[in-house]
Amino acid sequence: MNILVTGGAGFIGSHLVAALVHDGHRVTVLDNLSTGNLSNLTPVSSEITFVEGDILNADLVESEVRRADLVYHLAAAVGVGNIMTNPLESIITNTTGTEHVLRSCHRHSTRVLLASTSEIYGKTPKLPMAEDDDRILGSTAISRWSYSTSKALDEHLAFAFATEGLRVSIVRYFNSYGPHLDEKGYGSVIANFIRQARDGDPLTVHGDGLQTRCFTFVADTVRGTILAGTKDEALGSVFNIGSNFEISIADLARLIVDKTKSSSPITNVSYEQRYGTSFEDTRRRVPSLDRAREVLGYTPTINLAEGLDRTLAWWNLVHA
Ligand code: UDP
Repeated sequence: MNILVTGGAGFIGSHLVAALVHDGHRVTVLDNLSTGNLSNLTPVSSEITFVEGDILNADLVESEVRRADLVYHLAAAVGVGNIMTNPLESIITNTTGTEHVLRSCHRHSTRVLLASTSEIYGKTPKLPMAEDDDRILGSTAISRWSYSTSKALDEHLAFAFATEGLRVSIVRYFNSYGPHLDEKGYGSVIANFIRQARDGDPLTVHGDGLQTRCFTFVADTVRGTILAGTKDEALGSVFNIGSNFEISIADLARLIVDKTKSSSPITNVSYEQRYGTSFEDTRRRVPSLDRAREVLGYTPTINLAEGLDRTLAWWNLVHA
């Protein structure tokens, strides 16, 4: 197939592109390299078509979608720190950009996979988070929630286009990590902690460190994405793609210090110090994977210890 991957130079996108190339597809990547990086595509660079451009450019999106049999739409402003620093640009990219992609896919009757996020659930105390659960968000004065809101609008747009005939499915990622994580830490606490541990800097645990996440190795993220993007049973539905292993951020910091044999101390930094006063965090985040398992046959396969080893091996290679 001819497959278009928006955001294909990004952390998850680049692994998806490699998997699709491996499966024998012709892949075109559309990416503005804002948080993506061409070096992520080095292993497959001779086998893909790379188009540097923005999903805000409707004409460009239209011409690329026209040539595609299937679209994976991963291009987005990502990372809590990034969203907090650039709220306006993030909202516009995530709403107007996605509208362009979905509209072109609808016009050309092209199937599309929309990458969404576990941020959708906000700060709901109900665990595990199931796809049809209520979303609980704070005030609009808290800019963090603009990310959740913009991606929720994307999902609503996708469902609305689906009623007009668009073949679309949606995945919500839960804290994906692995090789190609942005070392500036845009995408993940794990990238931040590894960099700090390697540089001998203090690992900065926000708040009391008892907030939890279920980290998902990127190979599992990609497998779930391809299943949701291709299975007929997935059409019109949204799926959590994550792992079940819940760990506190404080324990994660200790694990990374152990694995890297770092002499870095672990320090607590208040949310206020890091993000200013208008910030709220999600205390615990755990996905229900029932739907993904039942409909897609998806289960995570790589545990945190193994995934961190693979991530550290890549990190050492790149920073040798
Ligand atoms: N976090 C932290 N130290 C850091 C970066 C993040 O303690 O240097 C915390 C952050 O406040 C959150 C958790 O780690 O509670 C996960 O953050 P991340 O930005 O990776 O993803 P999120 O799940 O918040 O989208």
